[in-house]
Amino acid sequence: MSTLPGNGSVRAITRWGEDVMHRVNKPVTDFGDELQTLIADMVATMNAAEGVGLAANQVGVDLQVFVFDCPDKEGNRVQGVVCNPTVEVPEGKDRNLDEGDEGCLSLPGAFTKCARPDFAKVTGVDQHGEPVSFEGDGLLARCLQHETDHTQGMVFGDRLSRKYKKRLFAEAEEFAPDYPSDWPVSPMIEHEDDHESDHEDTPAT
Ligand SMILES: [Zn+2]
Repeated sequence: MSTLPGNGSVRAITRWGEDVMHRVNKPVTDFGDELQTLIADMVATMNAAEGVGLAANQVGVDLQVFVFDCPDKEGNRVQGVVCNPTVEVPEGKDRNLDEGDEGCLSLPGAFTKCARPDFAKVTGVDQHGEPVSFEGDGLLARCLQHETDHTQGMVFGDRLSRKYKKRLFAEAEEFAPDYPSDWPVSPMIEHEDDHESDHEDTPAT
């Protein structure tokens, strides 16, 4: 069951290369109807794309807010809305890197290993301006870091070596014909000659 805002409309997902994806977004200051509609639409869009997280700039909106619905290491499903997020990760001897696969709904179909701390805590405010914080491990830790990065204009390709980045873009190009420009408003296109992605089990964020 979802505790996230419902009844939103699916919007087209903005891709890497669009300006709004690559600059620091504006902090949320107005918690009125427009924000509520945006957040409901982001939830609908994340669900349609079968993702575990989505930031506002991924639907083309220049605001620091993300939604997520993501399992942690033990499989506990954690959901939330965070405006104006800041992220904390362990430092020094408490810092352990998780070398797992990462993908982004704004570069659909492509995944690569991306080392990140295996625990993260995000603090911000919810859709009504009330303080919230979420923390966790596993995919949830990756998701919280990935989405906060989006609000700061960073994509996970920016965290990769040239070699891994090149490989990632090659994979994205391979799967590009499967994704209409307004995906997930229009569904994925099934091609007869499609070969299976190696990363079917890894959800994107
Ligand atoms: Zn992403």
